Formats: sequence, C-alpha cells, structure tokens
Amino acid sequence: MGARIIEGRPVAEEIRKDIIRRMAELQLEGITPGLAVIMVGDDPASSSYVKMKGKACQELGIYSQTLRMPSNYPEEALLHTIDELNRNPRINGILVQMPVPGHIDVSKVVQAIDPDKDVDAFHPVNVGKMLIGEGDGFLPATPHGIQELLMRNGYEVAGKHVVIVGRSNIVGKPLAAMLMQKGEGADATVTVCHSRTRDLGSITVQADILVCAVGRAGLIKADMVKEGAVVIDVGSNRVQDPSSARGYRFVGDVDFEAVKERAAAITPVPGGVGPMTIIMLMQNTVLAAEKALKQHAGPKV
Ligand code: NDP
Repeated sequence: MGARIIEGRPVAEEIRKDIIRRMAELQLEGITPGLAVIMVGDDPASSSYVKMKGKACQELGIYSQTLRMPSNYPEEALLHTIDELNRNPRINGILVQMPVPGHIDVSKVVQAIDPDKDVDAFHPVNVGKMLIGEGDGFLPATPHGIQELLMRNGYEVAGKHVVIVGRSNIVGKPLAAMLMQKGEGADATVTVCHSRTRDLGSITVQADILVCAVGRAGLIKADMVKEGAVVIDVGSNRVQDPSSARGYRFVGDVDFEAVKERAAAITPVPGGVGPMTIIMLMQNTVLAAEKALKQHAGPKV
C-alpha cells in the first residue's frame, strides 16, 4: 500500500488564514508589518528565493523592501544598512539572504540584526532561547514549518524516535533542539546523523519519523526506512530532466517512488516542506510586528 502524501500547501493555507486574521488586528492599531530582505551579489537561486519572499509579502499585504547590493558591497556598508533597518520603525523583520560573498563575515552580519527583528532566527539570542525552550524568541522557518506540518497532519512526535539526517544551523540542528523540548509538538527522542555517521541506514531504519536535510538526491533508499515510518524530505536537488521544458526538475534526498511503498506517510518534493518555509517566515514577520506593538514601538503607517 502506498504512503499518504503529506502536502505542504493545505497546511500553509491554514497558517495563512491565521496570519490574515492577525494582520487585521494589527491594522486596527494602524500597523502594517514590514519585512526587509537584503541580497548581496547575484546568485540566481538566491535571487529566486528573494523574489518569492517579496511576492509572499505582497500577497499578504505585508510591506516589503528588497535591497539588492552588488557582490563587492563592503561588509561595513552592509552592517550600516542593517543598523539603519534596525532603527526603521516601518521594518519589523530583517533578513540577509544567504549565502553572502566570502569577504563578508556571516556571524557579524547575523549578530548585527536586532534580535527582535531577526525573523530568520539566526541571531544567537534567538538560537539560545530556542535551545533553552524560552517561548518569546523567533523560531527558524524550515524547522518550525516541519513541526507544524507534523502536528497539523496529526503526527504526534512525543515519545517517538525522530532521526534527523543533516546538522546544519538552518535545518538539522534547530529541528533537533525544537523536537527534544518539553511540550506540544515536541517531547521526541531525537538522533542526529551527518556525513561522519557510520552505517547511516542502520540508524535511519530505527526512525518512527525520519527527516532528511542533506542535499543529495536519492541518499535515502527504501531499505533505510522502517515500515510505517513518517518521512519528511527537506532536500531540494536540481537534477537533469530532458522531458521537462526547463531541462531540469527538483527532487528531494529520499528515493520517493521506492520509499513511498514502505512509509506510512511522506512529503513530496516539491510541494512538501518548501511551501511551509515561506509561510513561517511571513508568520515571523507578523510576530515581529506584534512584539513591536507590545513594546509600544510599533510603526504607525
Ligand atoms: P547543508 O549543506 O548546510 O547541510 C547538509 C548536512 O548534510 C550536513 O550536516 C552534512 O554533514 C550532512 N551530510 C552531507 N552528506 C551526507 C551523507 N552522505 N550522509 C549523511 N549526512 C550528510 O544543507 P542545508 O541544511 O542548508 O540544506 C539541506 C537540504 O535542504 C538542501 O538540499 C537544501 O536545498 C534543502 N533546504 C530546503 C528548504 C526548504 O524550504 N524546502 C530550506 C532549507 C534547505 P556535515 O555536517 O558532516 O557536513
């Protein structure tokens, strides 16, 4: 029997409705949430992510500013731009699209953003709050989106063995921290694997819930998955496909066709985790405006 396909769009749509309700409440206070996205350089993938973020803001009525800087934009100038945005009351959320060119120190950039405007949740203050389980920081979009996807589809993680493949600061590590917390949508027993893990399949096969965030097409084969597991495929890999008009398509890290015959449920790529990431960023921007209002610093526009 084939697995249930966990689509991201219907869940993203539920969250979108909640965002619209929260935006209406902010409007009553004269507040329109604002997001600034800074992009340094002209990486085509980054450019398309930045466009998607701008479009998502536009669709929701979130004020957005996209600042495109040349690839030789000096680090000092970038820090100055961030500082200006930190002080701009129309802007509630600031994000710098990664990766940035090599001459820019990523940690300086991340730490320059006001933690109350850090909608990507990369600032050490927000990372620390997430780790100790303090609920008043921001949560990073992709892991938070995965947690919502599981909860809203009725997949309880409490007491389950969740195996996460990948330990990046944007997906694997924060997801592990979030799912091991005490409380709703968490209380899991978490194992994290990475490129130095020995005999990966012997660990992934133990997972009740398997999350793969590596960036390698076909890494997870059917025999690495437990019968009846829930599989979340975060990977987004461009592979050649002469049958498509573009000549390529995107696939995940999981051998979808084979694994879906073994798993109880699986996310598709595209259309699974992807739509969740963008909506969670929008939610963080609204949360940032709500925080600003609470601190009586909300923009009146
Ligand atoms: P990174 O490259 O930062 O991290 C990849 C992780 O995979 C690392 O921890 C690495 O281990 C591990 N890894 C690499 N090879 C293996 C292997 N053979 N076996 C086990 N682990 C391995 O990637 P990201 O976390 O940024 O992204 C992962 C994937 O998810 C990418 O395809 C990316 O495009 C996608 N993505 C999708 C999003 C979405 O919204 N759909 C959002 C974010 C990412 P080590 O640490 O030892 O190097």
